[in-house]
Amino acid sequence: MPKLNENYLNVQDSYLFAEIARRVKAYEEAHPDKAGNIIRLGIGDVTRPLTESAVEGLHEAVDEQTKAETFRGYGPEQGYEFVRRAVADYYERNGVKVDPDTVFISDGAKSDTGNITELFAQDNVILVPDPVYPVYVDTNTMDGKKIIYMNGTEENNFLPMPDDSVKADIIYLCSPNNPTGACYNKEQLKAWVDYAAANEAVILFDSAYEAFVSEPELPRSIYAVEGAEKCAIEFCSLSKTAGFTGTRFSYTVVPKELVFSSSDGRKMSLYDMWNRRQSTKFNGTPYIIQYAAAKVLSEKGMKECMENISYYMENARVIADTLRKKNIPFTGGVNSPYIWFKCPEGMESWELFDYLLEKIQVVGTPGAGFGVNGKYHFRLTSFGTHEKTKEAMERFEKLF
Ligand code: PLP
Repeated sequence: MPKLNENYLNVQDSYLFAEIARRVKAYEEAHPDKAGNIIRLGIGDVTRPLTESAVEGLHEAVDEQTKAETFRGYGPEQGYEFVRRAVADYYERNGVKVDPDTVFISDGAKSDTGNITELFAQDNVILVPDPVYPVYVDTNTMDGKKIIYMNGTEENNFLPMPDDSVKADIIYLCSPNNPTGACYNKEQLKAWVDYAAANEAVILFDSAYEAFVSEPELPRSIYAVEGAEKCAIEFCSLSKTAGFTGTRFSYTVVPKELVFSSSDGRKMSLYDMWNRRQSTKFNGTPYIIQYAAAKVLSEKGMKECMENISYYMENARVIADTLRKKNIPFTGGVNSPYIWFKCPEGMESWELFDYLLEKIQVVGTPGAGFGVNGKYHFRLTSFGTHEKTKEAMERFEKLF
């Protein structure tokens, strides 16, 4: 009989979106007359179609694949040089220098934030913000690693800061944050970089929502902080930036400076390890997708992406205005597609979920699904259409 990885027994059922779907379905069955009235502002998936540059790129690359002279089979596991350079150029236009050689192309920030745990031994102390994107907790739990949490609360504007009495080896940061929409400023990120340097810790920085940062003084990459290349790996994705949730393209930067000692004193480079890991277990992102992604990452391509992002941010403004009118405290919606608001006094997030579904047929995401600190908060997303978002918030305004 195989001995199974019993750490899987400790992973909570992926209950959040399944439970949301179950409750919505039950409501639809009980109220068929209202089923068509439901507005979904829950799931973090985009709705705008691919941009012109993306579509053009996809078509061109498909055409290349139809001719023997231009056909491409297996590509470099790390990604084609032309797209790694396009990523570095995109960083550079945002004021950050990244060596294209340290860029690894992948099929998702989910895959890479999940797989990176393989590089770290079992007995590390992993520090994870709460609330946050659940993948960091689940993947470390699957590995049997020890997780400690740092609280994101109203008191710290959902931006936990380093505590020198806590000794962590690996630190996850997600900025702009999913689900709270809170975004670290440069001084705050510098405090994390200083903490990591002092503790010889590694920061795993998830910048999946960097393109939504609208305040120019806020950093969109941890590498905007001096010294971060000595302590941080960064994960980013075109999923939300370019509507690639179904197309799949992401990049991870692993600086060559990240070198640590093995238990017997040998030098181990995280860049070399990740390169070895990827070339052993991954055969690369499809050429067609990489080609389209390079077009998306160009100046013209990004300008088109920003038009879609402005569309979403207009929804965020509508949601935020309604909450403000009702004096409901919230974060997000300015540098992030997410808005995180406080449930009415005494109401837990799942109760509010049922209440909104029942009374106004609006579906959001209960904060409890992102950690214990989300118990009294609720997430709305701006990824819907203008019409539906406006309608949802009109109903919301009448209800409260
Ligand atoms: N990181 C964060 C913080 C996210 O919220 C998401 C998706 O919702 C991802 C990563 C996953 O991105 P990808 O689609 O590139 O796997």
